[in-house]
Amino acid sequence: MTERILVTGGAGFIGTHLCKRLLDEGHEVICLDNFYTGQRANIRPHLSHPRFELIRHDVIEPIRLEVTQIYHLACPASPVHYQANAIQTVKTSVLGTLNMLGLAKRVGARFLLASTSEVYGDPLVHPQREDYWGNVNPIGPRSCYDEGKRVAETLTMDYHRQHHVDVRIVRIFNTYGPNMLENDGRVVSNFICQALREEPLTVYGDGSQTRSFCYVDDLVEGIVRMMQAEAFTGPVNLGNPDEFTVAELAQKVLSKTGSASPIVHRPLPENDPQRRCPDITLAGERLNWAPHIPLDVGLDRTIAYFRQVLAEPAGPAAH
Ligand code: NAD
Ligand code: UDP
Ligand code: UDP
Repeated sequence: MTERILVTGGAGFIGTHLCKRLLDEGHEVICLDNFYTGQRANIRPHLSHPRFELIRHDVIEPIRLEVTQIYHLACPASPVHYQANAIQTVKTSVLGTLNMLGLAKRVGARFLLASTSEVYGDPLVHPQREDYWGNVNPIGPRSCYDEGKRVAETLTMDYHRQHHVDVRIVRIFNTYGPNMLENDGRVVSNFICQALREEPLTVYGDGSQTRSFCYVDDLVEGIVRMMQAEAFTGPVNLGNPDEFTVAELAQKVLSKTGSASPIVHRPLPENDPQRRCPDITLAGERLNWAPHIPLDVGLDRTIAYFRQVLAEPAGPAAH
């Protein structure tokens, strides 16, 4: 069935891949974005598509639209960007999610919240399962994002219980791939761009902290399956359980790019989680989903993307 789908944050890294996937499946797609971290270049190929529509709008403000599904992704995801204007980040998560739930309620649309592994904070159990309540600092520099998303999850479940809105929650773990912003500040894009420019790779702390990196195509598959799942609100973890230290990631990027860049150490940011790794048993059971693209393959594709971007003086206009 052809759906009329709203993708908030549709000009962002994950949003651009999701919009393409939904257009390829024959749906009508409305992309709503305020371009805080979104890239016009990444959605330029869609602009001439007859089933694609772009709305420049801030989700903090109410909006009336007629849609059948809402993928609510709008929110800066990189610590550099979400901390640059922390109050705006809280407003985006809380007021933005409230507005999109109000919209879903009014039109009877199915609503999916893009939540995050950050709701687990600096976790005390490994790997993280959905029934772990987390270890989050409510007053630290990451709190605008972590607590904002926790309230967004709360609102989502309250609209479900109180107003019977058909909701879905996915908790996304670190995701990477083409269309990330070059100055995004996240570790994969930083290391690749630094290596390709022969600049030092900035490892924060001693590099022993771990993350598990999911390639964006795998993630989008999981998100779409969750939207289509029946009688399952989640939350469900989506991520790649292969865990690497940041130091290992730096070595991989250096060997794959053939870069002679040195590694330099910078202070570990406050509240930087020491370990993070998803337990994806639930996604396997309920969505029959697991990631298939190993880090080595995904890194090669992402390096190829950034090689092209960095070779273009005006940015990724051709993509
Ligand atoms: P991104 O920063 O590339 O994209 C976010 C998009 O939302 C951007 O296009 C931005 O302009 C838009 N946006 C921000 N505030 C807005 C507002 N107030 N109104 C309208 N648009 C707004 O980030 P991403 O990596 O694509 O992440 C997308 C979603 O997935 C986010 O909700 C994020 O929290 C979640 N997530 C991402 C990751 C990851 O590793 N990429 C991990 C966990 C969760
Ligand atoms: N809202 C919106 N678009 C809609 C319907 C609602 O942006 O189509 C907003 C509305 O302005 C409000 C929020 O969503 O700020 C929550 O709406 P709801 O109807 O649940 O609550 P109420 O308006 O009664 O406070
Ligand atoms: N990191 C790093 N160098 C960088 C950027 C990030 O060592 O240039 C580290 C960061 O301290 C964290 C990990 O890499 O431990 C992942 O950071 P990212 O910002 O990508 O995501 P998040 O911290 O939200 O998981």
